[in-house]
Amino acid sequence: MAKKRYTVQTACPQCGCSRSQVLSEDEMKERYGHVPNFDMECGECMEKYTSEMKTACPEWDKECRIQE
Ligand SMILES: [Zn+2]
Repeated sequence: MAKKRYTVQTACPQCGCSRSQVLSEDEMKERYGHVPNFDMECGECMEKYTSEMKTACPEWDKECRIQE
């Protein structure tokens, strides 16, 4: 059985460049955990910004709610 993958998409509010990561459930737990918001740093302009999980990865946000 294939493991579920989650795509996290974020966009920098400063320069607009977007970033997309594909992570497994274990990686999601390790990297973000069950949080509504998380911090990102833009690889282009180094701007630090906060992303909402429900926007960046609705699927993971849903999983978090189920587990609550
Ligand atoms: Zn940027």
